[in-house]
Amino acid sequence: MTRKTSVTSNLAPVALPDNVWRRQFRMKLGGWYARHARDLPWRRQSDPYAIWVSEIMLQQTQVATVGPYFARFLAAFPTIAALAAADRQEVLRHWEGLGYYRRARQMHEAAAVIVGEHGGQFPRDQQAVRRLPGIGCYTAGAILSIAFDARQPILEANTLRLWSRLLGYRGDPRSAAGQQLLWAAAEIVLPRRGCGTFNQALMELGSQVCLPRGPRCEACPVALLCRAQAERAQAEIPPAQVKPPTEARHEAAVVIRRGQKVLLLECPAGGRWAGLWDFPRYRLHSAAEAEVCSELAEAVRNQTGVVVRLGRRLATFKHSVTRYRITLDCYEADYVSSPARPNDGPRTQWLEPASLESYPLCTTGREISRLV
Ligand code: SF4
Repeated sequence: MTRKTSVTSNLAPVALPDNVWRRQFRMKLGGWYARHARDLPWRRQSDPYAIWVSEIMLQQTQVATVGPYFARFLAAFPTIAALAAADRQEVLRHWEGLGYYRRARQMHEAAAVIVGEHGGQFPRDQQAVRRLPGIGCYTAGAILSIAFDARQPILEANTLRLWSRLLGYRGDPRSAAGQQLLWAAAEIVLPRRGCGTFNQALMELGSQVCLPRGPRCEACPVALLCRAQAERAQAEIPPAQVKPPTEARHEAAVVIRRGQKVLLLECPAGGRWAGLWDFPRYRLHSAAEAEVCSELAEAVRNQTGVVVRLGRRLATFKHSVTRYRITLDCYEADYVSSPARPNDGPRTQWLEPASLESYPLCTTGREISRLV
């Protein structure tokens, strides 16, 4: 593959693939993909909207999880115009359980932009696509190449690792130098036609064969073209990322009952769960049960203006959010009075338990709703 050196640093120089390498690579990859491509629902689509939905859902989420969400979302919002016209709460309800709710909020905003500025048609122009909320370089390249066969490269987690190994790049692939090299490789290798299929083949190879740990080099169609394989350096490329240490957290949620109803809050704008609804939930600082009860009663009063009498603990959930390992205790409480509502408090609603079904809740919020 030796030709032009594209990135130098304190590491050994790395070359971009030459013509011969590129031709062989396309041929081998194309043949392999024709035999091994998985039959995924979004691969049967040419509608840019459906491809957009799948690409956004697949960010941070496994293929097996996305399948049913993808079908339900398109059934509920079959066109960009339908998505734009939908209530945000309804959109979030269809996203519930997928996590990373910012993706749904931004898709909803982007749909409104497409209706307002592009007549409801997904734009073909790369700059226009990049201006849509929630669409970065990778997503724009994926949608445009798959839906319109535009000659646009892609680089995401799987192809980042694949290209690092193919080129034998030992630096950090997320650094500026690494990004420059790997995007250049992803672009230079594109065929004249069939870029969408080619990009999907790259992602398939990265996710199914060139695995993060234990790549299946014996089954790899491009093993003879791979620098990491030649140097037996698969385990060192790319270098392991240093992850922040995990942190234990203790939280509590409160089910406040007033007759047949329970109190829910709308999660504030700018937060991880903005637009979703939740039971009042707080980080706990006390350990002893009696102190926990007074801490929670005070927190509820400060946030909502509602005075409560804490009752028993209903359940404990353990879950993780980013680097936090959370133990969430769920308490019940009785409404006593609501003397003064704070001006800057969140929007609240007293709801019949049955009506919670139509409200978007976070995963633990939904589990608590099943308790009540
Ligand atoms: S030979 Fe191994 S390391 Fe190289 S691209 Fe194939 S699977 Fe990845």
